Amino acid sequence: MTGHVVTRFAPSPTGYLHIGGGRTALFNWLFARGRGGKFLLRIEDTDRERSTPEATAAILRGLEWLGLDWDGDVISQFERRDRHAEVAHAMLARGTAYKCFSTREEIEAFRAEAEAKGSYAVFQSPWRDADPATYPDRPFAIRMKAPREGETVIDDQVQGRVVIKNETLDDMIVLRSDGTPTYMLAVVVDDHDMGVTHVIRGDDHLVNAARQQMIYDAMDWSVPVWAHIPLIHGPDGKKLSKRHGALGVEEYQVMGYPAAGMRNYLTRLGWAHGDAEFFTSEQAMEWFDLKGIGRAPARLDFKKLENLCGQHIAASDDAALLHELEAYLAVANLPALSEHQRGLMLAGMSSLKERAKTFPELLEKARYILTTRPVARDEAAEKALDPVSRGILASLTPRLRNASWTKEDLEAILTGTAAEHGLGFGKLAAPLRAALAGRTVSPSVYDMMLVIGQDETIARLEDAAA
Ligand code: GLU
Repeated sequence: MTGHVVTRFAPSPTGYLHIGGGRTALFNWLFARGRGGKFLLRIEDTDRERSTPEATAAILRGLEWLGLDWDGDVISQFERRDRHAEVAHAMLARGTAYKCFSTREEIEAFRAEAEAKGSYAVFQSPWRDADPATYPDRPFAIRMKAPREGETVIDDQVQGRVVIKNETLDDMIVLRSDGTPTYMLAVVVDDHDMGVTHVIRGDDHLVNAARQQMIYDAMDWSVPVWAHIPLIHGPDGKKLSKRHGALGVEEYQVMGYPAAGMRNYLTRLGWAHGDAEFFTSEQAMEWFDLKGIGRAPARLDFKKLENLCGQHIAASDDAALLHELEAYLAVANLPALSEHQRGLMLAGMSSLKERAKTFPELLEKARYILTTRPVARDEAAEKALDPVSRGILASLTPRLRNASWTKEDLEAILTGTAAEHGLGFGKLAAPLRAALAGRTVSPSVYDMMLVIGQDETIARLEDAAA
């Protein structure tokens, strides 16, 4: 199978990219990419009333943000409707489907009668074995001639062997009387034509797999490998809903999670490789397999998400991280960086990225770069600038004016000044942080002084001492 793997993600464009959909796409992407295979994208837009171009655009944006690139063009299911109809007619020709002239009223009457008798209301069309000579001159649907006895076995890579009794499935319609294909037919025809070898999707589609497998059999097509993955649950183990927090992939982008951390987290959500928690996408591609997918629904765990995101931020290349931060500023509707700020951010990035779990946290640490004089201070910073501290800052500025602005030189000046006043360095650091960042919690004073430079440092100290 290696070298000839084709997977696909097949969302219906009726809303944003749901976090569960994002994970399904990710699993398909990892599985294909790790095997030199192809990952295809098909938009299932046959439901014309519920499908919108805005939803398609949102899904593509979500995938792009997650870094899940697909091969070839985006395929529209709706545009393939003629091909779907062609296959329905091929099934007719093969005798695995038939023309059904039953009207809606007749079908409803059948169901009502079956229910009254207490039997299972699977519609059995009287046209299944009818002589074509008896066909009336009126519109017909094409129904699959489904096996009535025996069982259909789905050999699922996650769920195991799933057995469905054929008597519980009706002769489903594959082509409606208005000539439009049904969803069930469209999925099979598309997956077949696209050469899909592995169908990895939510387990809400497991029942569909039995019906779809019948269509493969009816056309004598080879059935793909099935892998139906359990849905994602909230932290409380209940079905995921809005009250658990963000559901849309793009919402996570706006909250400032880095894409690499999000990928890592979603990969671990329902899949495991030993006890590996933090890993790169390259490692995930190498390791990802269907065996590692759990059978129980995975639970969202925001602490873990943040923890992984922090590790990915710290491990990022500085320039790449700045680039991603700028994309975050744009989607979060925050002011873009000026050229000057970009330069300072890059200079300070190696310390900024330590212990920031999200972009908002990184921006909070970068406040000393992004702020302008006079630096706004919070309450703790105001407190740190008591009269004694202001005096010390005032005595510090002439020395800083003569400094060579290396870390060693600054260290000598600051520890020397602290010692002269009989203070530990920490006591001096608080007013310095307050003066430079307007906060008492900030990156190290040396990092800040080196990044913003001599003139700006002295100006801020003078502001604070005044
Ligand atoms: N369009 C379906 C959905 O959005 C997915 C169908 C499939 O993966 O086979 O749930």
